[in-house]
Amino acid sequence: MFITFEGIDGSGKSTQARMLADRLRAAGRDVVLTREPGGSPGAEEIRRLVLEGDPDRWSAETEILLFTAARRDHLERVIEPALKAGKVVISDRFADSTRMYQGLSRGDLRGTVDRLHQMMIGREPDLTFLIDMDPEVGLARAKGRNGTEERFEDFGAGLQARMRDGFLALAAEFPARFRVIDGNRLPETVAEEVAAIAEGALA
Ligand code: C5P
Repeated sequence: MFITFEGIDGSGKSTQARMLADRLRAAGRDVVLTREPGGSPGAEEIRRLVLEGDPDRWSAETEILLFTAARRDHLERVIEPALKAGKVVISDRFADSTRMYQGLSRGDLRGTVDRLHQMMIGREPDLTFLIDMDPEVGLARAKGRNGTEERFEDFGAGLQARMRDGFLALAAEFPARFRVIDGNRLPETVAEEVAAIAEGALA
């Protein structure tokens, strides 16, 4: 089973992905916990190319190609082999993040993202948790991190709010696999709800 976590920066999705992986492992399941952008050695190199250095280095279109290339490598080398071996794969972000960040942040490029996805990726998660979070709170949390790579914090709460609305619209577009979780609660409370849904899907 392929499970993904999505949400705006500072939503707590990475913590939730880790907590779910720990919980499923404790229950005896074979879990691969991974992340995007990155998740394989080649994709991590592409992550650095895109996220470090001058934010204007790449055009929006080139960035879509780079993220798609990274995802293809991650899929071929990590995700597909693990799924074939019967493991549970949990990814902190996947294609929905590209639909939002590359598809919405610099003009409307969602059509380009979708066409490339269809051609080069194809795979959708079985289950996607959208950790929904107040954009102001998320921004403050993302800014408070050490060594943060957050790229969009300088654009402020406006972009965060647009991304949040975009994620909610995406969840409505793919209701069969999305579960919207209220992230404005204690991590342990959020984790309980997530685990109950995941365990139900795995049963
Ligand atoms: O989720 P994580 O904190 O690792 O993401 C690192 C940065 O990359 C974040 O600022 C996120 O908004 C950005 N990002 C992006 N495009 C994606 C995925 C993440 O610009 N497809």
